[in-house]
Amino acid sequence: MRRLLVLPVLIAVSMGVELPQDGPVPQENPRLETAQDSTPLPEPRPDNTTRTGDMPATHGTATSAMPEPKPADKKTASDLPTISRPKPDEVALARCEAELRKLGAVFTREDPVEDENGCGIEAPYRIDRITSGVALSPASQLRCATALALARWTDTVVIPAAVALPGKVRLTGINHGSTYVCRLRNNLPTGKMSEHSIGNAIDIADFEFEGRQPIGISPRQGDGDIEEAFQRAIRGGACLHFTTVLGPGSDTSHASHLHLDIAKRRGGYRLCQ
Ligand SMILES: [Zn+2]
Repeated sequence: MRRLLVLPVLIAVSMGVELPQDGPVPQENPRLETAQDSTPLPEPRPDNTTRTGDMPATHGTATSAMPEPKPADKKTASDLPTISRPKPDEVALARCEAELRKLGAVFTREDPVEDENGCGIEAPYRIDRITSGVALSPASQLRCATALALARWTDTVVIPAAVALPGKVRLTGINHGSTYVCRLRNNLPTGKMSEHSIGNAIDIADFEFEGRQPIGISPRQGDGDIEEAFQRAIRGGACLHFTTVLGPGSDTSHASHLHLDIAKRRGGYRLCQ
């Protein structure tokens, strides 16, 4: 009896047919991708990098994001993967600045940032007010396109959500955990460089209002209160403006903030979890 079962298997293997191991063969489904396993890209260009990982509480350098290495086994910049800074396009930047001004943003274009491994921003912007009456704190370093996505999200999603809160509530500030920082995704010692490394990402920590207490990003699944409703609304709307949205529930490193970035992917795919 056993021989009868073995024979077809041998025939299948000799024909190059892949046999299932245990259970059904998994199918590729981009919607099931995890943050660490996002869509591969067609070309290794800066704007084509997949999403990134997350939030150090402060700005830093590639080495500051790494675990403390042993002296004998210290990683040098050349041990880390590289990423390419997008080249500045002055026409696009002028258009972007005009759009930011229209939304009431207050910003300063700063000197280029150039770090090792391709990290940096050719045209970094410090945003003091992201839209009229809404401060962005602490100091930020973002590409203009990232700042514009943030301004549009604030204007069309966050401000209306704040207005819908009970009472007479107005959004006055957004606090972030990090913008530009040269490091790997999720602060891991190996892997790909984060979108934070080229100014494409921001980690949103909490919101301040006139007329009520601040609302911080936290795991709120099932709380059934107005704060959960607010967080769901602003997180859902973020995917209209950003191509990566990660937060509580995505993985353990995003439990207390929303990671938003403008990474470009094949086919315009958005990774919103
Ligand atoms: Zn992040």
